[in-house]
Amino acid sequence: MYDELVKLKKEGLIKYLGFSFHGDPQMLREVIKEHKWDFCQLQINYLDWEVVNAQELYQIADEANVPIIVMEPLRGGVLCNLPIKAAEKLKSICPNETQASFGLRWVANHNSVFTILSGMSNFKQLKENVDTFVNYKPISKDGEKLAHDIARIIQLEGAISCTACKYCIEVCPRGINIPAIFGLYNMYKSSDAPNADFMFVYNYNALEESSRADKCIKCGLCNKNCPQALDIPSLLAQVDKKVKEVEKSMK
Ligand code: SF4
Ligand code: SF4
Repeated sequence: MYDELVKLKKEGLIKYLGFSFHGDPQMLREVIKEHKWDFCQLQINYLDWEVVNAQELYQIADEANVPIIVMEPLRGGVLCNLPIKAAEKLKSICPNETQASFGLRWVANHNSVFTILSGMSNFKQLKENVDTFVNYKPISKDGEKLAHDIARIIQLEGAISCTACKYCIEVCPRGINIPAIFGLYNMYKSSDAPNADFMFVYNYNALEESSRADKCIKCGLCNKNCPQALDIPSLLAQVDKKVKEVEKSMK
């Protein structure tokens, strides 16, 4: 396939030849060593840097001088919906900074990154992202430490590291709404609100009954499609257990 792509590049049909990657460091090393690339697209953000393998992936591309396009700079929205403790920490150190802006600036601080793909859902977010880069300020040493601390807080909160890409839904024979279920769970885990239990159960029960976690038949098809290598059926069982516990405690 690579030779065909090079042919298309020579014909001018491809301008820059690269690839998007969700594998492990060993595989990235092989892919980069095997062929010449104009870029690679990696999942890099300060949470994956600390708790997964983004740092290693970055270093492999950086050392091979392969420029990087970054996907998921805000971890599917996790880094702009921080748990209360993490949000307060950010606010106390960078009072004028939004969570999204901090996450994007952290990514942009890396020399081999030449493009950041940031998913935006409305005009406000578009404006915020543009402002971040028009008035760009590099992250300081304190900012690096802050990112590290926030990542640890998120990890301790036990959030499920789903990026809501929805690839799992495409293959689920039962139509389980996996990203929505994980999203509600993460929101619940990070909430200090007095009505957090009620809101968790209320929102969960607002999901289509047939798409809830307890309808999973544990076929495992979704796991093969998950770029985050999550064990989805086990995590669904964990959420289902939590919902039942919270429901019981409210009776
Ligand atoms: S394991 Fe559950 S969630 Fe995953 S594809 Fe099968 S039924 Fe769907
Ligand atoms: S494939 Fe994985 S990361 Fe993507 S929505 Fe499903 S569980 Fe989340």
